[in-house]
Amino acid sequence: MRIWAIANQKGGVGKTTTTLALGRGLAALGHRVLLIDLDPHSSLTRAFGVPLDPPPKGVLDLFSTPPADLSGLLRESGIPGLSYVCAQTALATLERRSANQPGLGLALQNALTRHARHHDYILLDCPPTLGLLMINALAAADRLVIPTQAEPLALHGLAGMSRTADMVERSRRRPLPVSILPTLFDRRTRAGTETLKQMQDSYGERVWEDAIPVDTRICAVETLTQPGAPGEYPGRGLSAYRRALEWILAEDAQAMEQAA
Ligand code: ADP
Ligand code: MG
Repeated sequence: MRIWAIANQKGGVGKTTTTLALGRGLAALGHRVLLIDLDPHSSLTRAFGVPLDPPPKGVLDLFSTPPADLSGLLRESGIPGLSYVCAQTALATLERRSANQPGLGLALQNALTRHARHHDYILLDCPPTLGLLMINALAAADRLVIPTQAEPLALHGLAGMSRTADMVERSRRRPLPVSILPTLFDRRTRAGTETLKQMQDSYGERVWEDAIPVDTRICAVETLTQPGAPGEYPGRGLSAYRRALEWILAEDAQAMEQAA
């Protein structure tokens, strides 16, 4: 089982879209994939059409005492091989309510470890804030995928996320390889092209050499949450995500080889 955290301390950079697109891609390759919505905004949960009132069972239940078993929280997406766990909006208050409880930073990792046999890939759609949920995700992850908008202001978010990753790596004493995925790229603007170049200069091989283009077809939730023919990728955006997935898989294979 491989766990990828999809994170950036900035909102609107394509984290949820990336989680769905990569998850779909992995499932189309025949893997058993689980997506976990860790964002109180519940975008991924909403994308699957789950009503939030009354709140569904989900991630919050992993933080209760005693914690729920992950297997009781899974939902089937209708796409073969792809299931998911919902986020509840009450996750937003988790931080405050659990301030004095020790050990909660590993709640997710513990749940995933107990569940290891059932999935090949688990993708964690992170919230845009550095808090308990993000810490849980980074503690559990084998890889950090940072979607980052190819525009100048996004470079700050990327620097912040990169520092956070370094900090986590030091404290957990296990490498956390990073894959930076330029998203929402508009080839026609100079700012986009220049930002891409700057990212590559600063972060080298950690940055994908290509970028996910702006593609309005990706915004339509059906594109990502409805079953299609296996391996079917309509549009530029999704075909770029398929190439991005190949790159991440190759990086992952290399990292595992080095660790062995
Ligand atoms: P985050 O999870 O980082 O907040 P989202 O994945 O929700 O970001 O994306 C933010 C918005 O941008 C959403 O409305 C989404 O549909 C849209 N979006 C994401 N990627 C693309 C893309 N490649 N082309 C066009 N729109 C996109
Ligand atoms: Mg999101």
